[in-house]
Amino acid sequence: MKQSTGVNQSDNQLVFDQDPSLLDAQSVAQAMHTDIERGLSTQEAQRRLEQFGTNTLASAPETPKWKKFLAQFNDPLVFLLLAATVISGIAWVIEKLHNPAEAEALPFDCIVIVLILVLNAVLGYMQEAKAEQAVAALAKMTAAQTTVLRDGERSTVESSQIVPGDIVLLAEGDNVAADGRLVHAAALHIAEASLTGESVPVSKNVATLEQAKALGDRSNMVFNGTAVTQGTGKVIITATGMSTQVGHIADMLQGAEEEPTPLQKEIARVSKMLGIAVCVIAVGVLATLAVVYGLHSIQDVIDSLLLAVSLAVAAVPEGLAAILTVVLALGVQRMAKHHAIVKKLSSVETLGSASVICSDKTGTLTRNEMTVQRLLTLHDDLRITGTGYEPKGELVVQQHMPPSEQAAQASAYMLAAGAIANDGKLNDDASIVGDPTEVSLIVAARKIQADIWAQHFTRIAEIPFNSERKRMSVVGTLSMPDASEYASAHLAPWAQVADGKQLVAFAKGAPDVLLQYCDYVFDQGKVRVLTREDRERIVSQVEQLSKEAYRTLGQAYRITGATQIDQLEGAESGVDLADQPHVIEQHMVWLGMVGIIDPPRTEVRDSVAQAHGAGVRTVMITGDHPLTAARIAQDLGIIEQGEQSLERYTLTGNELDQMSEREFKQAVAHTSVYARVAPEHKLRIVRALQDQGNIVAMTGDGVNDAPAVKSADIGVAMGITGTEVTKESAAMILADDNFSTIVAAVREGRAIFDNIRKFLRYLLSSNAGEVFTVFFGVLLAGFLGLDDPASAGVTVPLLAVQLLWINFLTDAAPAMAMGVDPSTENVMNRGPRKLTDRVIDGRMWSDVAVVGLLMAAVTLIGMDLYLPGGLITDDSAVGMAHADQIVMARTMGFTILVFAQLFNAFAARSGTRSAFHGMFANAWLWGAVALSIVLQLAVIYVPFLNTAFGTMPLHAHQWLECIGLAALVLVGSEIYKCIVCLIDKQRA
Ligand code: ATP
Repeated sequence: MKQSTGVNQSDNQLVFDQDPSLLDAQSVAQAMHTDIERGLSTQEAQRRLEQFGTNTLASAPETPKWKKFLAQFNDPLVFLLLAATVISGIAWVIEKLHNPAEAEALPFDCIVIVLILVLNAVLGYMQEAKAEQAVAALAKMTAAQTTVLRDGERSTVESSQIVPGDIVLLAEGDNVAADGRLVHAAALHIAEASLTGESVPVSKNVATLEQAKALGDRSNMVFNGTAVTQGTGKVIITATGMSTQVGHIADMLQGAEEEPTPLQKEIARVSKMLGIAVCVIAVGVLATLAVVYGLHSIQDVIDSLLLAVSLAVAAVPEGLAAILTVVLALGVQRMAKHHAIVKKLSSVETLGSASVICSDKTGTLTRNEMTVQRLLTLHDDLRITGTGYEPKGELVVQQHMPPSEQAAQASAYMLAAGAIANDGKLNDDASIVGDPTEVSLIVAARKIQADIWAQHFTRIAEIPFNSERKRMSVVGTLSMPDASEYASAHLAPWAQVADGKQLVAFAKGAPDVLLQYCDYVFDQGKVRVLTREDRERIVSQVEQLSKEAYRTLGQAYRITGATQIDQLEGAESGVDLADQPHVIEQHMVWLGMVGIIDPPRTEVRDSVAQAHGAGVRTVMITGDHPLTAARIAQDLGIIEQGEQSLERYTLTGNELDQMSEREFKQAVAHTSVYARVAPEHKLRIVRALQDQGNIVAMTGDGVNDAPAVKSADIGVAMGITGTEVTKESAAMILADDNFSTIVAAVREGRAIFDNIRKFLRYLLSSNAGEVFTVFFGVLLAGFLGLDDPASAGVTVPLLAVQLLWINFLTDAAPAMAMGVDPSTENVMNRGPRKLTDRVIDGRMWSDVAVVGLLMAAVTLIGMDLYLPGGLITDDSAVGMAHADQIVMARTMGFTILVFAQLFNAFAARSGTRSAFHGMFANAWLWGAVALSIVLQLAVIYVPFLNTAFGTMPLHAHQWLECIGLAALVLVGSEIYKCIVCLIDKQRA
């Protein structure tokens, strides 16, 4: 990996030895050979990227491949198997020494176990690498972005591509991706806790420092790893990658390791339990054998040791952990295809358990395609025609009648104010830049040429919009458009100061909020004092528009009387106005309000209903007016229709503030719409819902949403409108900002979880079948004739290598196929799973035990056919030598177990439904079964595999016996499911 270098290296042409905070911005720009207005050229940026390397922190040196490979063996169950290898090796040596004629030429058991362990490690290594690649690909999709100036144009690049000398533009919610010197700052506040530990965001400015200061006090610098909480800024990058301050702090470089998911932990616990259980069983069985049969000869010792080995091998689900990782990683990829980018594997599980989804309104539940449709001044109610961002439309009164001239002018002044207090941009091709709410005002203003004033306004300062303030103001000077440009320009209420001398302020914001800062109103062409009746009238106008689902936005202005910012009443010289909004936002003149329509997303209604059916409640959290919010919530089916549902289900931020903790906890149970809330309320809502036992998914976009998004069980960030900070705190990112995507992800999460349970049931029943076979095989050895001709003791029913073959190979493919099983049941028809519920619950253990017993029974019957004792003996076994009988019996038992598992692959897909339900739905499963059959044929018919696996070729009628007996497992499990369903029904 390329190491980034700093700018102050001796071989570097960008040398400046001083601390950039002590130099003025121009000098820094010169030293960095960059242009503050145009930025670097693309070629120069590319050259510097090659010279200095990417803007990334060198993570801990990558673990070498061989270490990763060896790590595959670091598992208690593998240790158990290694011990088994050693024991079987010792057994072979003893046999070789004492009974050279009988001993195998090579220690096959030993070799095959080692081979299979190596194969498992190779597979595990490959699967891990694949999962890592998938996660890396997703990480690339969510890579942090930074806005830079290059070739004089604003553009967005991946933060890793930033180079020293780049000019970076910062806005609220951006992560600062490298260190730099500020050249412009407007109300810029940065959270530097990660670097300095200071929890309150610090205010930044461009003033050159007199003397060197500690990091936390370098007010004209920004640092990698911090985040913009407010305002905007422009920065010359002075250090990237490892040369940044963060780069100097070594412990931050260790990338956090991905924690195992709760499910992986549970599986690890189960495996460990099995390991211990098998040791106990093995010791128990060996002790019993020693007591009952006695250990008379070396051969008895060998046999007992081999028995311990095969028991150990039988009980351990070797392939499980690897299959689990792959299935989770595949799930993550599938979700990404549905636009839900899951950053942590564990979220796949949590998603399936979500019981409440808290969603923003704008953009997530609605389309965020804003159109101004209504214009309400104190006495007039006009409409403006046209849709979308095409600036074509006209003013009309209710029935398509043109409005009076005075009404039209008042509306034009209102839209002029809205277009001035505005950071949006409408391009000539009707594409937009910035907040759609803001652009909708520009569009409306352009429709009636009211935006002319915006071109004659010079902005001097601004107090930006944020979700707490719910308003935005600008202050500056106006010059008069010439009369031909805009006929009524000279009538505008601010026309008298349009000489560029006095400062004028324009504001727009939530009408109920903005009205509090107004003392006057523009009415009938004049400014007069705002009376109580006027206020009541305006409030009822807001309610009326809101009830009709309009998003409302009020406009106001004020002639400040000052010619300079520091002459403003209450302003101190050098003060950042953003810290003192009251200096501007007071004594304003109310112009009127617009009603903006933001249509709900059509697909959301269905998703809300689907979530409801799945026991998942949808909660809307918005900064919008309660009536607008409630109306849209009704349209989407989040709350019931009707006036009374407003009272029952809606809470505002103010009401919430006045509630005690206890009252609030009661209220969250039934509140589905939170309106006029600020981001900090979201955290309270998440906590209260969690206290009630809910698993909460919470969406967020703004930087202030990050704490709530982080605290939620599933934090969801908006991919399009979300800030970098929120994306970083989220567990999942919605590439399309759409609520329906969350519901789709919940559905996917549930399906994956179901599939995991399917293959767990499948794999564990196989192990149970093997353990029971070995266990009862030994117990009934005398009866079955399963004894070693060379000694008086018992012999192992199935060889360790045969069991390993099943666990590793013939079971693996069907289990994997089950991991991508299309859901047979509608996963959205039942309530969410509790996170505390066990994955392998009592019911599953009993399924496993019953199927395991059935498998053992048919396997032992199959073996009994070829053994001298027991119930029945096949004719073909009669003339065989005893040693051959045992090999044949084992081949039968081995094959029956494999086929019983293949039949079980269909049965294990559901704990209650018949295996024949949707039997052909999963083509992968059929392919996997075919593959397992081929593998089994190989082990039976390839001569050298015969030696290694202790098998012999089977005849047609033996195949019939095997398959017939194995099929009984399917029949038995069908009967068992019927009984279980009957019992369930009776209980219900
Ligand atoms: P959500 O939280 O669902 O995204 P929202 O977009 O309505 O809802 P906010 O963005 O917090 O919530 O806006 C709250 C209110 O502030 C809006 O109802 C509107 O009246 C006002 N508002 C929105 N955007 C601006 C803006 N750019 N300038 C001034 N006021 C605005």
